[in-house]
Amino acid sequence: MYYSSLDLFAAQRSVAIRQAGRIMRPQRTHLRAVKRKLSICLDPGHGGADSGATYGMTEEKTKVLQFALASRYRLTREDSCNVSMTRETDWKPTFTARADTARQSGASLAISIHINASNSKKANGLWLFHKHGCEESRMLCALASEFIPSQWRNDFRVFDAHDNPLVSGDDWLSRPEHVLRLYPCQAILVEWGFITNQLDYGYLCSPRAHTDFVDFVSSIVRAHAVQGAT
Ligand SMILES: [Zn+2]
Repeated sequence: MYYSSLDLFAAQRSVAIRQAGRIMRPQRTHLRAVKRKLSICLDPGHGGADSGATYGMTEEKTKVLQFALASRYRLTREDSCNVSMTRETDWKPTFTARADTARQSGASLAISIHINASNSKKANGLWLFHKHGCEESRMLCALASEFIPSQWRNDFRVFDAHDNPLVSGDDWLSRPEHVLRLYPCQAILVEWGFITNQLDYGYLCSPRAHTDFVDFVSSIVRAHAVQGAT
């Protein structure tokens, strides 16, 4: 599903974006404008013996933990959120344990963080997955189309967690997207580029990929705040 299909949500999205714009200015006070303090669960994928996708010496598990830690800093210090994390070091929680972290912290949104890989070196871009059957999660992915970094302006796709085109049959049960089904709240999974694509890899190894990721997650959380406020 290409994000152009998200026009289905155009009316709702335009309202939410206008509301988000009001809240987002000035940027550092936008979430304080929403009375309720948000609780967000960040879920860096893989860990321990499971490195996730690798390319050369670069391991997905390490990159996504760095992204998550930087995002936690932004969300707690500047966006006034409560943030829980499924892991803060190099170990691998089970899917159930990850969902329990969100449940115990009372999170209203879980964001799983990954980096993609493909046998095709041409595959690239930012992919989002939303929790199957969760309209709010799907709407949040629609809102995210407003916040994608310039790197992937034309390479952004959204999928239902059951519809990963890289997965066939029931293989999705062993895939990271499966964790979304277990979360007791809204949940999305971010595949922040393809480690197997030359352009994406260069970007992923740059400081800009980190700052863009933190900005992206912060924007998603702002949109989520607006969802909860309406
Ligand atoms: Zn992964």
